Amino acid sequence: MRSQQHNFYDLIVVGGGSAGMAAAIHAAQGGKRVKVFDAAGPDFDKPCGEGLMPPAIQALQQLGVQIPEASSLSGVKYFVGRGQSAYAPFGRSHLAMGIRRRLLRQSMWLRAAELGVVIAETTADKVSVSHQSVCVNQDTADYLCIASGAHSRVLKDVGLRSSTRKKSQTQRFGLRRHVNLKPWSDCVEVYWRDHCELYVTPVSNKCVNIAILSWQPFQFDHILKLFPEVLAKIDGATWDDEASGRAPLLHRSSRVQSGRIFVAGDAALFLDAMTGEGNTLAIRSGMAVARAIMEGRPALYRWYWLQVVWRYWLLTAPVLLASRHLWMRNRLLNLVVGFPALLRIGVTFLSATPKR
Ligand SMILES: Cc1cc2nc3c(=O)[nH]c(=O)nc-3n(C[C@H](O)[C@H](O)[C@H](O)COP(=O)(O)OP(=O)(O)OC[C@H]3O[C@@H](n4cnc5c(N)ncnc54)[C@H](O)[C@@H]3O)c2cc1C
Repeated sequence: MRSQQHNFYDLIVVGGGSAGMAAAIHAAQGGKRVKVFDAAGPDFDKPCGEGLMPPAIQALQQLGVQIPEASSLSGVKYFVGRGQSAYAPFGRSHLAMGIRRRLLRQSMWLRAAELGVVIAETTADKVSVSHQSVCVNQDTADYLCIASGAHSRVLKDVGLRSSTRKKSQTQRFGLRRHVNLKPWSDCVEVYWRDHCELYVTPVSNKCVNIAILSWQPFQFDHILKLFPEVLAKIDGATWDDEASGRAPLLHRSSRVQSGRIFVAGDAALFLDAMTGEGNTLAIRSGMAVARAIMEGRPALYRWYWLQVVWRYWLLTAPVLLASRHLWMRNRLLNLVVGFPALLRIGVTFLSATPKR
């Protein structure tokens, strides 16, 4: 009865990124009335390395999202200096892709609109929650999904805490930039230096994404000089945009579900971008929100969310910790080159596609 009222929805989603749109689309697939708030619009180009791991591709197919122009990725190749490298393939049955983030976002917004999701290109300013319902601006719903990315103010508005590391030596910084160039390789290339890594991802047959993650604040053009082997490859090509990114990368919400509230994507947890799994977690956690709502058992989301993030946590947390100190970074790299099976295990972990 309530859901037939004009401004009443089953689910309101704050944030139209990968997590928010996955929640909206999946809930709409299940027949729910959904409204999404996001002022940035469908063309927002969220800074990202743009590598989509196989579970993300599988989830997008399940959502019926048209995969936009993209580059198939064959595997991951680590370059550790002194001409040494290690390679691990994704495997034939595991499709990974480099996709321009703006195109992915547009495809997800289109799919949501097709399914009747109402999208308001405005910020969620007034957010409140009671025992009976949730209220965002002028609209009311049974449930609220907060998918507004890392460092979201909305978490605070509903009484959830978000934690980030304050000390600069425990923070990571990330920037990305696109270069207009035919990719020279079909894998994600990772180049390591003392305090930073550079990730090369082909995203179309004429564009390459270059992302840099560092333990220190940096300027893109300045730090790029540390990677002469990459500079030589992009020599003479034009940049497609300015460098853009985020700091600090680490973010965690105090809870992922509380009463009528669900937290998905980076708003719930983001450790680091080094494994290229942010979108996988965002899309799959968004879908898990919809699943818990459709099953009428909101508290189950905590369990579903754990099922989504445990691999990421297990792989990223120790590697991140080890990469913080120079001598440990060097040991890690020697391990990767000395025992290529380790990298293969890591990539198999990234590729594992869940049953649902
Ligand atoms: C440098 C870098 C490289 C990365 N590389 C990769 C990679 O290669 N592969 C990968 O999978 N992931 C990568 N990631 C991570 C990935 O980008 C994120 O994990 C992913 O974008 C999370 O999606 P999300 O939907 O949770 O948040 P977001 O994409 O940040 O979306 C949040 C949305 O909420 C909206 N919003 C915020 N506040 C409000 C409000 N009050 N009202 C309404 N809307 C609001 C914003 O406009 C935004 O559209 C990278 C990240 C960085 C920083």
